[in-house]
Amino acid sequence: AALDAIDAKEDKVNSFVTVDREGALKRAEEVQKLIDDGKLDGPLAGVPVAIKDNMCTEGLLTTCSSKILGNFVPTFTSEAVLNLEKAGAVILGKTNMDEFAMGSTTETSAYGETKNPWNLEHVPGGSSGGSCAAVAAEECFYALGSDTGGSIRQPSSFCGVTGIKPTYGTVSRYGLIAYGSSLDQIGPVAKDVTDCATILEIIASHDEKDSTSVKRDDLDFTSALVDDVKGMKIGIPKDYLGEGLDSEVKDAILNAAKVLEEKGAIVEEFDLSLVEYAIPAYYVIACAEASSNLARFDGVKYGYRTEEYDGLHNMYKKSRSEGFGAEVKRRIMLGSFVLSSGYYDAYYLKALRTKALIKKAFDEAFAKYDVILGPAAPTTAPKLGESLSDPLKMYLGDIYTISVNLAGLPGITVPCGTDSKGLPIGLQLIGDCFKEKNIIRAAYSFE
Ligand code: GLN
Repeated sequence: AALDAIDAKEDKVNSFVTVDREGALKRAEEVQKLIDDGKLDGPLAGVPVAIKDNMCTEGLLTTCSSKILGNFVPTFTSEAVLNLEKAGAVILGKTNMDEFAMGSTTETSAYGETKNPWNLEHVPGGSSGGSCAAVAAEECFYALGSDTGGSIRQPSSFCGVTGIKPTYGTVSRYGLIAYGSSLDQIGPVAKDVTDCATILEIIASHDEKDSTSVKRDDLDFTSALVDDVKGMKIGIPKDYLGEGLDSEVKDAILNAAKVLEEKGAIVEEFDLSLVEYAIPAYYVIACAEASSNLARFDGVKYGYRTEEYDGLHNMYKKSRSEGFGAEVKRRIMLGSFVLSSGYYDAYYLKALRTKALIKKAFDEAFAKYDVILGPAAPTTAPKLGESLSDPLKMYLGDIYTISVNLAGLPGITVPCGTDSKGLPIGLQLIGDCFKEKNIIRAAYSFE
């Protein structure tokens, strides 16, 4: 049924870079046999899933939506995907994304843009736009995305689906092609909170292959699926409701806050300082890490190599010039600049200090509140092409999501209405580190 839905919709939506039709059908038969023999059980057994194309899958093309990895077939599978496979998941294919997860619209993909299933003239958001569009278009039952600065929460908002970015260190990054390693986290995208909690419970694990993986004994996220927010303290940062926020989005967010209040939560506004510094700090740190992480794509070990060249250095230069797209090049240059001697202290070190202050501001907020509530994005999905010409404007759209990554916190987006154009609006709930259960419990109120 999922493959039929893909056949019917993919021409219009373009959620996938690769559909593994034969592999999925073969795997479905194997899983069915295991279920019939009583060897496999559980909520994900036999359920088809789509995987963002920055997670390595053994034997299955993994492009990061870049020309430079256009021929890259990994020899191993990322830990999060392995966890799904152990639970009996059937992988349908790999979803489209902004190239190397850099972007907010899924328009920087080398394989064409993905369109928003709600209105094909609009973007699905990004960078996990393919995963969110695939779930919204019902081409799969759920998907995995990754979130470095909002890439699960923002496209979930634009596509009217639910997505969780877990606490940093909860899901292994082993096999996730790195963008900003200190910020990247894998998480689920699905139709509702119940599905997301169920999937997160399965993909979260301690993994010695990821040195930032955390050992936790509280991964029973589904235990938080209770309809009870009585006495829960919820703070709304005043700065999240100010200038730049679309009035229809603001109304929907405040209505959602009222729903929680009516159910017995204590809701109040507060000042979360430093919000305006999150974007500059994030773009310095993310680009710095990206410039280092992407140094490995040199035309030698794997991926694209230019056809004609004159010596080794010329081969590196031509392979990278031809293989990377404009947004990726912009970030490699910016990252190399902020890390160069003479500028390191002024930019990179200062950004790290800002990151520490942002974490401190959240620590103070979570001393008072269980959950922070706000929008996931300042607007609903823009039209295709609108964001491409002005990268700075696109970066400013990340205002509500990126500080969560800088502080390593968990965040969830749940749908909370539509605007006058009929496009979905997403509510973001942010928790303290390791407190996914608080945001799952609050989000469950909208199920
Ligand atoms: N839009 C942000 C960026 O371009 C976030 C992307 C992400 O979370 N991968 O960096």
